[in-house]
Amino acid sequence: MLDNKTSTTRETSTAKDPYSFNGETIATAAPKIGDQAETRKFYIESYGCQMNFSDSEIVASILHDASYTSTSDFLKADLILINTCSIREKAEETVRKRLKTFKQVKKANPGALVGVLGCMAERLKAQFLEEEKLVDIVVGPDAYRDLPRLIATAEDGDKGINVFLSREETYADISPVRLDSNGVTAFISIMRGCDNMCSFCVVPFTRGRERSRDPYSIVAEANELSGSGYREVTLLGQNVDSYKWQHPEEKDIVNFAKLLAMVAKINPQLRVRFSTSHPKDITDEVLHTIAKYPNICNYIHLPVQSGSSRVLEIMNRTYDSAWYKSKVQRIYEIIPDCAISSDIIAGFCTETEDEHQETLKMLRYANYSMSYMFMYSERPGTLAAKRYDDDVPEGVKNGD
Ligand code: SF4
Repeated sequence: MLDNKTSTTRETSTAKDPYSFNGETIATAAPKIGDQAETRKFYIESYGCQMNFSDSEIVASILHDASYTSTSDFLKADLILINTCSIREKAEETVRKRLKTFKQVKKANPGALVGVLGCMAERLKAQFLEEEKLVDIVVGPDAYRDLPRLIATAEDGDKGINVFLSREETYADISPVRLDSNGVTAFISIMRGCDNMCSFCVVPFTRGRERSRDPYSIVAEANELSGSGYREVTLLGQNVDSYKWQHPEEKDIVNFAKLLAMVAKINPQLRVRFSTSHPKDITDEVLHTIAKYPNICNYIHLPVQSGSSRVLEIMNRTYDSAWYKSKVQRIYEIIPDCAISSDIIAGFCTETEDEHQETLKMLRYANYSMSYMFMYSERPGTLAAKRYDDDVPEGVKNGD
């Protein structure tokens, strides 16, 4: 499931200056990794969803092992990385603007390398190197282990590119270096990719097929965080409810409900959250597990996207409005004080005013505690871009 917090932009650099996130001003934390003058330095900025921020921590770990240390000042960096998001055109425009700034840095310091990571790298592949002449490295979300080799290639004057999408990579054995850590909350990636094909979404093309991470490595990571004083972990995946892991030599399958229970049992004082749920996949077993363990937060991010059954059908969401309502009912039956939040797209292809009104009715019905709402943004290569006209005028989408 796509987490539509993707519109937010946040640096995972270790800058001391405050920056804005979701309208709030947040001060970044001190770097967790060393700052020795003699080692090479990297600077990383992340855009998009929580998965991207979590990925940047994996990248930091890989670079740490390759003797890089982090810096909060890109002017001092030997390697400048930008972890990108493709979910909306605006997110890509922001990244392109930022690359223009880094081009100036590269002109002043030709030895510095600039690398593009993440979904935009995957979407544009080698085209990125042609379009953005001063980008040296392009790395897709499943190729971060290859970064040291790609850096060496770029240092030799060639372009370093790896956008191979894996069916197995989960980075299970990599212990993330916590960037911007407040020492209280941390993300744990439990799966990668997505097998759904929501017609508006670029994620299945940029992050590949769904695969789940070994639950024992997840529990070990949560245990370590708890032992280091963290009070809250958020289990992350595009569609956490379809988490499924089976040891090749064992019969038992660990599903998401079982994984949640395993993490909740580590320490009753450790709060457990998760994101994101797909309405078609969240089960009663998950709901009962949330109800059973007091340290699993009574909160579910359950994106509806639209209140109109016709629009949901062309979005390929695989549920209709009545089915979604029954799921909301079930959540309130099993967890009466549960907070539910949502993602909503306004002005999807062919949406009428009446259908938009159905979405507003859904907002009232579900009594969401919060929603992320976005104007539809057509993304090249998606099913919607191929099949439907982006025909709702901009002024209607944004309510002008
Ligand atoms: S395809 Fe659908 S379920 Fe998968 S990430 Fe995109 S919006 Fe979420």
